[in-house]
This record gives sequence, C-alpha cells and structure tokens, in this order.
Amino acid sequence: MTDTTPIVDVLCVGAGFSGLYAAYKAAEKDWTFAGFETAPDVGGTWYWNTYPGARCDVESIYYSYSFSEELQQDWTWSQRFAPQAEILSYINHVADRFDLRRHFSFNTRVVASTWLPEAGLWELTLDSGETRRGRYLLAGSGGLSAPKDLDVPGLENFTGITVSTSRWNIPLSDLEGKRVAVIGTGSSAVQCIPLIAEVAKHLTVFQRTPNYVFPARNAALPNTVVDEIKSDYPAIREECRHSIGGIPERPVYDKAFDVSEEERRERYERAYELSGFNGVGAEFTDLLLDVKANETASEFVRGKIRQIVEDPAKAAVLEPRLHPLGAKRSCFGTDYYETFNRPNVSVVSLRDEPIETMTADSIVTKAGSYEVDAIVIAIGFDAFTGPLFGLNVSTPATGKLQDAWSDGVRTFLGIMTAGFPNFFMIAGPQSPALASNVVVTIEQAVDWITDLIEHAKDQGADVIEATAEGQDDWVTITEETVNQTLYATTDSWYRGSNVTGKPTTFLGYVGGVGKYRRMCTELAKRGYTGVEIGGETVNASIGRIDEEIA
Ligand code: FAD
Ligand code: NAP
Repeated sequence: MTDTTPIVDVLCVGAGFSGLYAAYKAAEKDWTFAGFETAPDVGGTWYWNTYPGARCDVESIYYSYSFSEELQQDWTWSQRFAPQAEILSYINHVADRFDLRRHFSFNTRVVASTWLPEAGLWELTLDSGETRRGRYLLAGSGGLSAPKDLDVPGLENFTGITVSTSRWNIPLSDLEGKRVAVIGTGSSAVQCIPLIAEVAKHLTVFQRTPNYVFPARNAALPNTVVDEIKSDYPAIREECRHSIGGIPERPVYDKAFDVSEEERRERYERAYELSGFNGVGAEFTDLLLDVKANETASEFVRGKIRQIVEDPAKAAVLEPRLHPLGAKRSCFGTDYYETFNRPNVSVVSLRDEPIETMTADSIVTKAGSYEVDAIVIAIGFDAFTGPLFGLNVSTPATGKLQDAWSDGVRTFLGIMTAGFPNFFMIAGPQSPALASNVVVTIEQAVDWITDLIEHAKDQGADVIEATAEGQDDWVTITEETVNQTLYATTDSWYRGSNVTGKPTTFLGYVGGVGKYRRMCTELAKRGYTGVEIGGETVNASIGRIDEEIA
C-alpha cells in the first residue's frame, strides 16, 4: 500500500513540556509538524505520575513555561509546589490556549525511527504499523518516562494489589485498612509514603539506600507573592536562564571550613528552614566538591533525623551514610521522617536483608517474611536511554542508536549525536536537564534546535549532523566537569547504575544552565561549530570555546 501521508518538516515524539513547546515553535515558524504520544492526552510526566502526593519540587513559579508573557500573567499557581493535577491542568491549558493538541496523534507509540539517506527523511513506524515521514526528528520522549523493569525478585508470585508510582491506577482508598509495602525510597516514594501511612493498617517501607530528605515546606502562594512575581516575571526568567540550576540563586561565596563550627551550624539551621534546592545543600560553595565539607552538611541532616525519629533503631536505618548529600538527587517530602513515628509504620533495610523472593501474600527477605496485601513499586526509571532506545532510531550507515551507545552515551550538547543526521533530542542525556529545572533546559534546547534548522534552511541545506570531533569534545567537557564533583562518586540513575547491565556514564552536564546557554549561543554565533550543515563544517575546538566562556 502506498503511504499518501504528506511529508512534514518536523516529526516529534512526546506531548509533555518538550513536545508541546516544539509544536508551538514549529507553528510560529510555519513548519508542518506531526507529533506522536503513547498516552491518550498531553502532559508527559504529569499525565503518568498520578501517585498520592505527586508534586513538583522545583517551585511552580519557575517550573513553568517562560515563552509567553500573556500565559505567565494569566496563569496563577496556587501553591509553592503545585500538585500533579494542577501541573497537568496547566499543561492542558497551554495545549488549548495555543491550539497545540491538533498537531499530535495520541494513543500512538513510535516503535521504529529509520533514516532514509536517499530521501533525506526520517520514517517513523507507529504501533499501528503505519508509517510517517518528515525532514527532522525531535525526541521529546522524556528523560524519566520509561519505568525501570520490575527487577524485584519473585514479584510475579504475588497475588495481592501491585501498583507502580509511575503508572498509578488505583484510588488511595484501595489501600485503606491494608498491609502495604512500599519498595524504594527515592523522590516518588518519599512523596507517597506519608499519605499511604495515613490509610494503611500497616506500612512497611523496604529501603535499599537511605537518602537525604528535606521538608518541602509546601504552602499556599499568597496573592502578594504572586503579584510580586508577575510584576517582574521577565527579569526572574532571565535570572533562571543564567543560573546554575534554572532557579534564582541564593548568592553564597564561602566554603564550609571558612566559618566556625557554630556559624556553620546556624547557617545550616537557617538553610533547613528554606528547604528547596537553595537549602542546606547550597549553603557553601564546596559542598559538592569536597567530601569533608559535604560531611558537615550530611551530618547536620542525620542529626535532624535522630531528632525527629523517636525510635533510635528506626532512625539508624533511615540515616544516609552511603553517599554525600546531593550526589544523588535529594528528596523533598512532607512529614517524611515524622511518618516513621507512627505505630503502623516500619522500615526494613534491604542492605541488611535483601529480598529473596515473594509468595502469593508475602515478601521474603534473607531475615524473614512480611505478609502484605499490597505492594507499591517506587523503583524509578531507565533514565534517558530507556525512552530513546524505545524509538529504535537507526540509519543504514551507523546502525542502531543502542549499538552506537553500547559503551555509554555520546552526544553533542545532549542535543545531537554523530551518525544520526537531522535527529535532535530535547533535554537529552549530557544536557543540563539532569541537574536543573527541566523546563528551562527544554525551552533553551527547542529554541536552539529550531534556530539551527532555520539557519540550515536559509543556507538551502537539508541535512544537519553533529561532527565526531564536536561530539568527542562535548563528551570530554561533560566528563571533566562532573569529575570535579561528588556526583561522580555515587551510584544512581544519574549515572545509569540503577539499571542492571546499563553502561555507567554520567547522564548530565553539571556546569550549569547559564554556562551551557553561553556555550550553545557562542557555537551558533560562530556558524554552528561542531555541526555539519549540508556537508559544510566550521572547524574549531569546542574545548577552547568552553575555556573562553568560563
Ligand atoms: P515527559 O514529560 O517525560 O514526556 C515524554 C512523553 O513522551 C511521555 O508522555 C511519553 O509517553 C512519550 N513517549 C516516550 N516514548 C514514546 C514513544 N516511543 N512513542 C510515543 N510517545 C512516547 N523536573 C523538574 O525540573 N522539576 C520537578 O519538580 C520535577 N518533578 C518530577 C516528578 C516526577 C514524578 C517525575 C517522574 C519527574 C519529574 N521531573 C521534574 C522531571 C520531568 O520529567 C521533567 O521536568 C519534564 O516533565 C520532562 O518533560 P518532557 O516533555 O521532556 O518529557
Ligand atoms: P529513584 O530516585 O531512582 O528511586 C528509586 C528507589 O527505588 C531508590 O530508593 C532505589 O534504591 C530503589 N530501588 C530501585 N530498584 C530496586 C530494587 N530492585 N529493589 C529495591 N529497591 C530498589 O526513582 P523515583 O523516586 O521515581 O525518582 C526518579 C526521579 O524522578 C527523581 O530523582 C526526580 O528527578 C524525579 N522525581 C521528582 C519528584 C519531585 O519531588 N518533584 C518526585 C518523583 C520523582 P537505590 O537508591 O539503592 O538504587
């Protein structure tokens, strides 16, 4: 059968923050666009992650689009950290306001993405078997959209309720009066554990690695704060764009041992009250650089846990001692440690007693058996490469993306990868997405990609590709940057080490969104160094540019 579907300028996977902004920009430039989304509607992360307590932990006034002044004036966030339902309403509002839904096919999974060199086009194969062709392929498929395989031994034997935080599909009342297990203690678990504890007969938390959990200090946003923000939004957004983490920074100039122990303690106390990413972990400049400095902050948090958790045995299990504070993502919760004071909540250390198997009604560890009616799986995601490999991206010359990256991820700016022409990742691996307010990174990436495409079109060029040299330079820059920090010392999804068999390469650029933006802008100004456009390349070392813009 001949495919009569018209060729579009831009094919895009995903209808979350990334895909929707890509559709908006394409419409602005008058390009044809076809988007595909597995879910029945827009939202991405905020469509899928509906578990009790789900909310953002980057403040909503920053964790939102900045591209439209009218949008940011019209929309009013109700809370410091909006709940999932409010973020989803916001994304729906954006889709309706800018008429973006019409560009997407929902309930549609992309199962293969093949470069056709003679035509200079990408061909997508959809789960229906149909195909679609377009000039450029944008992956807005998300960094945290592929739930990790259920690698918990014996789970298939269990016959009670099994529910995963990333695909939550039951009302919380289904857990009422039940003996519930939660497996995992990352950000998702930290948000849902206190709410499950309120309804469960008994909750047993199965913890593999204790993490640092700060009180989120969520609160309603007073009108005065909203008005103040709205009166100054453009300047606030500009500050976010040029910051380290995509949020306004709290200026800090000294190192942990520049001040006395007493002053350090007072400052950690004040920072603990602030919470958020500008809290304790951001109090001194060297907390992510020097393990001894970090230990002062880590021990401060452990002291808080000992103060809050009344049972010393439980507190000892909850105290994080296996990694420095912030080296894997800190968590923000409401009454998290307090929840372990409830008589119906216990914690099991899987370091001491790993799960051996499960029966129809029990979790069996090395030390005993725990009867439960329901298991909540909160074990995280196959970050970045999970969704990208799901697209089965391939070209005849290079082969499959998963083979090109079999020893680890290699990208140019986290946006392109050598050997895959006209393929762009929005907030991809080795971009600042991992350690930033992701919406800032998404907007910057989409702006840069669409400017590059426009530049190529102006030159009459149809094919754009990262050069191997540009990519090597970028990989070196990301590695050198992370190797100066404590991020490099800790196992987590940041490094791919949460998934068995995944090569451990650090999956982000941690030099800050501001510096990254300067780099991207500078490369564009110089004629897109590191990119081959219609067979032409501007040769220059990206490493040198990185030093110049430092
Ligand atoms: P996603 O929102 O993940 O959307 C990708 C979409 O692509 C999905 O809907 C998926 O179904 C679709 N897709 C993937 N593969 C295919 C395919 N083959 N075919 C068709 N469709 C496909 N970041 C922050 O900065 N601050 C926060 O507070 C924050 N909180 C988070 C809370 C949770 C629970 C999680 C899981 C993540 C959080 N994040 C946060 C990260 C969050 O993922 C990003 O902020 C952002 O939502 C990513 O948007 P996206 O559009 O790039 O990807
Ligand atoms: P996660 O941070 O990767 O946490 C997964 C948890 O499950 C960890 O405690 C992990 O232990 C444990 N685990 C994994 N596999 C296991 C196994 N086989 N057996 C027992 N335990 C296992 O995942 P997440 O909580 O879903 O969060 C992922 C990311 O999404 C976050 O880091 C954050 O970026 C984002 N997020 C943000 C928010 C928010 O507050 N806005 C909320 C949710 C998610 P180990 O540490 O030992 O691997």
